[in-house]
Amino acid sequence: MPPTRKTTLKTPLKRIYNSASVPQKDCVFCKIVAGILPSYKVYEDSRHLAFLDINPFATGHTLVCPKKHGETLWDMDEHEIADVFKVASKVSMGVVYAMGADGFRIMQNNGEAANQAVAHIHVHVIPSKLEEKGKFSRLKLSEDEMARVADAIKSEIAGLP
Ligand code: 5GP
Ligand code: ZN
Repeated sequence: MPPTRKTTLKTPLKRIYNSASVPQKDCVFCKIVAGILPSYKVYEDSRHLAFLDINPFATGHTLVCPKKHGETLWDMDEHEIADVFKVASKVSMGVVYAMGADGFRIMQNNGEAANQAVAHIHVHVIPSKLEEKGKFSRLKLSEDEMARVADAIKSEIAGLP
């Protein structure tokens, strides 16, 4: 009988420390999911929402989050982890096509020590262009540009097979 690999610890050996940790009712991304706070949405299904990062590392920088609150990967089971990364992969195609990018980064921070600033699981999808290789600083886009970028990504994703 092949050994079964245990991929999710139901009782993690330690908690991940996060100073951004808040009661769920105060969670910014739960408020975005609930529509209480606005966002530039690019993709939604029954269990996930993807929207533009408010302070992007590149134009088109998108955050993919499960609708269900949890702080880190350790708060999800292995199916939920697989699903959020599958959605991030799909979203990456829309982001890269819409931005005319040449590649993309996937980033996912867990805990204070990893610079997690919003304590609701999310996967960053950050497009990169060859001519901007190595550049990694925050941008501030106008509301008009955010809306235009979100629309472009949304329609690319909607056109995916
Ligand atoms: P973390 O460091 O937790 O992995 O990333 C959190 C990200 O969320 C940051 O890149 C930050 O710019 C973004 N962010 C923080 N607050 C908001 C918000 O209210 N709306 C949106 N769209 N993005 C946010
Ligand atoms: Zn939340």
